[in-house]
Amino acid sequence: MRIGIGYDIHRLVPDRPLRLGGVAIPFELGLLGHSDGDVLLHAVCDALLGAAGLGDIGEQFPDTGPAYQDADSAMLLAATIKKVRAAGFAPVNVDANVIAEQPRLAPHKPAIRQRVAEILGLDPARVSIKARTHEGLDAVGRGEAIAAQAIVLLDDAGRC
Ligand code: MG
Repeated sequence: MRIGIGYDIHRLVPDRPLRLGGVAIPFELGLLGHSDGDVLLHAVCDALLGAAGLGDIGEQFPDTGPAYQDADSAMLLAATIKKVRAAGFAPVNVDANVIAEQPRLAPHKPAIRQRVAEILGLDPARVSIKARTHEGLDAVGRGEAIAAQAIVLLDDAGRC
């Protein structure tokens, strides 16, 4: 087994759509980023890459050129899981935290779980999406940003 951890944070700004876990969330602000700014999918990408020893999202999908400008992060995660599977690893489960003061994410958790599972080719029972606020503390707590953490387990049995 291999384990990996991922973390990301993006600033909330006007005039951007909000996408979390590959799902469009109705809100007056969206996440600033070179891609669509989907912090949750970026954290899952980094956890997968970390577990597989394949670097990080910045190395795999550089934000310096036009290739990933406004990219759909679902595409980045699909490309990531393809690389991870090609390296001989199979995902076992994913657990994630989304930390946002607003909007309220509870109503969206089932759709996000379904979507992340679909992109990864996993049973939704193997994907856990948790949401919490930051109790009004720091930039996330002031509603200036949304952060996400993810942890994944990979089975490397096929690799050895
Ligand atoms: Mg990011």
